[in-house]
Amino acid sequence: MAAHLASRLAGIPPTVFSEFSALAVRTGAVNLGQGFPDVDGPSSVVERAVEALRSGANQYAPGTGVPALRRAVAAHQLRHHGIELDPDTEVCVTTGATEGIAAALLALVEPGDEVLVLEPSYDSYDAMIAMAGGVRRAVTLRAPAYRLDAGALRAAVGPRTRLLLLNSPHNPTGTVLTRAELATVAAVAVEHDLLVVTDEVYEHLVFDGAADGHVPLATLPGMRERVLSLSSVGKSWSFTGWKVGWATGPAPLVAAVLAAKQWLTFTSGAPLQPAVAHALEHEHAWPQELARDLQRRRDLLLAGLRGLGLEPRTSEGTYFTVTDVEQLGWADGRAFCLGVAERAGVVAIPLQGFHGPESQDAGRHLVRWAFCKTPEVIEEGLDRLARATLTR
Ligand code: PMP
Ligand code: GLN
Repeated sequence: MAAHLASRLAGIPPTVFSEFSALAVRTGAVNLGQGFPDVDGPSSVVERAVEALRSGANQYAPGTGVPALRRAVAAHQLRHHGIELDPDTEVCVTTGATEGIAAALLALVEPGDEVLVLEPSYDSYDAMIAMAGGVRRAVTLRAPAYRLDAGALRAAVGPRTRLLLLNSPHNPTGTVLTRAELATVAAVAVEHDLLVVTDEVYEHLVFDGAADGHVPLATLPGMRERVLSLSSVGKSWSFTGWKVGWATGPAPLVAAVLAAKQWLTFTSGAPLQPAVAHALEHEHAWPQELARDLQRRRDLLLAGLRGLGLEPRTSEGTYFTVTDVEQLGWADGRAFCLGVAERAGVVAIPLQGFHGPESQDAGRHLVRWAFCKTPEVIEEGLDRLARATLTR
C-alpha cells in the first residue's frame, strides 16, 4: 500500500541540506553546502565519551539530562553570559537544538497561533511551526545588509502572534543582531506580551565585525521571564553529529519543553552527556579559538568568491556567507547550485528553502556558502569554481 503522507507533513518540502549533501556525494563535489566541519572537536571530549560508554553510562538518562551536564550548562550560561540558572528546574538537555525547537513549538504554540521568524529562516522552523499547527509570519532581513528592520518587525506582529523564534548569530546570513536590534525585539515582545525562543547555536562563533559580540536576548532588561534559549554542542565544539543540546530559561518554559520532549525522545543519548559536560567545563576556551580560526577561513572564502565576480556578505558570525548569483547572470539560486555542482563539482545551498511562499522573490537569487571546512577544502572548492564557467 502506498504510504499516504499526512497533510501536516505533505506541504513541507524535504530539507534542502539532505538533498544537496546527497548531490555532493553523488557527484564527488566539494561540499560548501551543509554546515558541518570536516575536523572534529577536542579529543579530550571524545575520550570522555569513550570512557562513559565503557564505564556503563549506557542506560536511560533522566529526561531533563544527567545532573553533571545540567550543572555544566548552568555554569556555561553564567561564565559566558552572566545568566544564573537553577540546573534542576531551568535547564533541559535536548537531542540537539533541533529537538529544542520542536519541543518548544509543540509545547507553546496553539493551532492557529502566529509564530514570527527572521527570514531567511533555518528550515526546521517552518516545518515545526507547521507540525505544531502554527502559522509562520516572517520579517525579512533584506539583502545586501541583512539587518533587522524595526518597522517590518512591528508590522508583522498581529493579534494572533504568540511567539517570536529568533536566531542570532543568524543562519544563513551570518548577521549577528546588535544590542540595539535586540532592544527593539525586547520592546516588541513586552508590548505584545510575546514569548521568545532564541536559537543561539552559533553563540560562540562570532567575528571581529560583530558590533556587540553575541548578546543573548535573555540578558536584556525584562527579558529573562519570557525567553527560552536554545543551544547545542554541535557548532561551537564541532560535534554536529552528536546532537546534544540544551534549553534554558524560566522554570515554566523549561517545563513546557520537557512536557513535549518526554514524548518525542523521552531522554537524550546518555554516554554523550558527561562528555558534553566535560566540553563545557574543561574546554570552554575551545570555541573562541575555533571562532578565530573560522574568521580566517571566512576571509579565504570571501576573497575567493570576490575573485569569481561575486560580492559575498562579510558575515559577523556562524559558518556561512551569502551571495547574490544575479551578479553572474543567474536569477535562480537553485538552478545556479545545480549547474555549479555539475560544471565545477562544488555544492552550495540555494536560499529558496529558507523563505516562505510569500517571499520567494527575496531569496530566489541568493546562495549560501559554508566556510566551516579546512582551508585545503575551501581552496579546492575555489580552484574548481575558478576553472569552470560560472556565468549563465
Ligand atoms: N539552528 C540553527 C540555526 C542551525 O543552523 C542548526 C544546524 N545544526 C540547528 C539549529 C540544529 O542544531 P543541532 O544540530 O544541535 O540540532
Ligand atoms: N545547520 C546546518 C546547516 O544549516 C546543518 C543542519 C542540517 O543539515 N539539518 O547547514
